Amino acid sequence: MEEPKEIKKLDEAVINRIAAGEIIQRPANALKEMIENSLDAKSTNIQIMVKNGGLKLLQIQDNGTGIRKDDFPIVCERFTTSKLREFDDLQNISTYGFRGEALASISHIAHLTIVSKTCNELCAYKAQFVDGKLQGSPLPTAGNQGTIITVEDLFFNMSVRKKALRSPAEEYQKISEVVGKYAIHNSKVGFGLRKSTENNDIRTPPDSTCVENIRIIYGNSIAREVVDFELQNDILNFKARGHMTNVNYSSKKLTFLLFINNRLVDCNNLKKCIDQVYATYLPKNSHPFVYLSLELDPVSVDVNVHPTKHEVHFLNEEQIIEAVCGALETKLLKSNNSRVYYTQAKLPGVQVENLPLKDPDKDKSKINPKELVRTDANEQKIEKFFGAPLDQSTSKSKQTEVLSAPFISKVNRVETELASILELRKDVEKNCHRVLRDLFSQHVFVGAINPFQALIQYSTKLFLCNTKKIMSELLYQFILYNFQNFGFINFAKPLPVYDLALQALELSEVGWTPEDGEKTDLAQKITDILTKNGEMLNEYFSLNIDEGGQLVSLPLILDNYTPDIAGLPVYIVRLATEVNWETEKECFDTVAKETALYYSKMSENSKWETNDWKWVTEHVVYAAVKEYFIPPKKFTENVAVLEIANLPNLYKVFERC
Ligand code: ADP
Ligand code: MG
Repeated sequence: MEEPKEIKKLDEAVINRIAAGEIIQRPANALKEMIENSLDAKSTNIQIMVKNGGLKLLQIQDNGTGIRKDDFPIVCERFTTSKLREFDDLQNISTYGFRGEALASISHIAHLTIVSKTCNELCAYKAQFVDGKLQGSPLPTAGNQGTIITVEDLFFNMSVRKKALRSPAEEYQKISEVVGKYAIHNSKVGFGLRKSTENNDIRTPPDSTCVENIRIIYGNSIAREVVDFELQNDILNFKARGHMTNVNYSSKKLTFLLFINNRLVDCNNLKKCIDQVYATYLPKNSHPFVYLSLELDPVSVDVNVHPTKHEVHFLNEEQIIEAVCGALETKLLKSNNSRVYYTQAKLPGVQVENLPLKDPDKDKSKINPKELVRTDANEQKIEKFFGAPLDQSTSKSKQTEVLSAPFISKVNRVETELASILELRKDVEKNCHRVLRDLFSQHVFVGAINPFQALIQYSTKLFLCNTKKIMSELLYQFILYNFQNFGFINFAKPLPVYDLALQALELSEVGWTPEDGEKTDLAQKITDILTKNGEMLNEYFSLNIDEGGQLVSLPLILDNYTPDIAGLPVYIVRLATEVNWETEKECFDTVAKETALYYSKMSENSKWETNDWKWVTEHVVYAAVKEYFIPPKKFTENVAVLEIANLPNLYKVFERC
């Protein structure tokens, strides 16, 4: 008989690797852990970049509290955490992480780099980790407040796992689901997700709302049909809130987002039960969208059930599920059972809720026609009444193409690290007028009056918009968010800056007076200033002015959109005279502002491919406004948007006639 093989203890690194593989089964698991860490660190902005489905690269940047330099040596060791000290704490955790295993696990199966800066440190520190251990000592480096965690070559030492995850597209899909769900649950935090070579796939603004993020991530067909619910049960000691689609919406597949105590989890029993509730009211084989956030007494949740912390069990599970489903059913019965929508005439910005046409509780309730409002952007537009042909401008494919156009695809997209630009972006976000943002993101385009004015509808109100002011802000934001990534609009023959400046000085709007000095001297000065800064303008703005003072190219800010060439001379003069060339932040700010101002002056000659300004206004400008715009607070003062009519008041007028 053969000798049995000697029993050997496994190498510790191997044990750790196996354990790590249990926790991190695919890139989306690693990302979830990292998102939770960023949220625990009180971040308000989380940006994620992915290469090859997260297998090549998974990077997450946040603006949270950061990791102290002194903690670097142990941050990736197993069972190190800043969140739990005693076993008893486990029963009261309010942060996501609690076992200090995520980073350790990742470092065993990937190349892990951390860059982090806390508010007390003067610079950021960067370090690499292998098998839980810090390599060398953290090196000082430039960086913003917060943490960037870079995970490269995930599963590089687990070839079987790597082979099992064959499709980067599928992994990316999982990642994008995780990001979208966390963005909906944490709507105050801005989230971004993109592939390294492309534009953002997901972008939610900071300080958004749950419904707004549902709209961004799952689309308007769901967002416009959701109703919110909230319940509290003191006997079973739980709270629930969320959004559910009404009976107007159904899909082949159930979308169920479940958070228990702020953790994205699965609970199959609950999922089945919710689907059953809808089965009575939806057509056969169709399912709803439900986002549910449950808050249970932490003592009653068993989060320790599986290392992935996914499937959760809790005390009184059956009763709680029953109570939740009962409440959802009641709400569903009350929600609208008609395809006509109407909104209450509330202030813009107040949540527009779908109310029941026939409220079973109040049989006599009747909608007033003055509250009926057309809310579908694809429905007929004002042009129809003018007899204009309904051409390609209403075709859906064209619209989506345009929607994605403003962010220009370039193969080697660079993400700017300039603090000044990041600050300027922050300023934009801080300055956001929330009510107006709701208005713009949900508006229905009514019609363009001329190249600088248009009508939009929101709720039961009609607004007159100053397209030029809006566009100028919008383009300014595009410049900041696409910084260093513009394409070029090349001139067939370069234009001498000197000639352009001279031409501008002849214009009355520039307001030249003899006290300003000789026009030729001024033109020369302008040329000198711009030539001196040509290299910078070219590198950051794709605005190429060569050494000989010739304008070679302008930045391509919106795909296919070229600014009105008649405004070029004035733009050149304003660049030289209005830009603050002294300090970096002001310089970028003013160049961006001047450029946006120039590009926003649409004229009757403005074109997008072969489409005219009317088409551009609707399908480029206002489409982008709906999707991306962060309206500034000053809009309420400078009359960029003016309410000119609201339906209830118009009815009052008609009734009197
Ligand atoms: P846990 O989250 O369970 O504590 P992790 O391994 O996920 O364990 O993280 C270990 C520790 O690293 C955390 O307790 C926290 O102190 C720190 N940390 C991780 N990611 C971040 C981050 N993005 N910002 C600040 N601190 C972080
Ligand atoms: Mg964690």
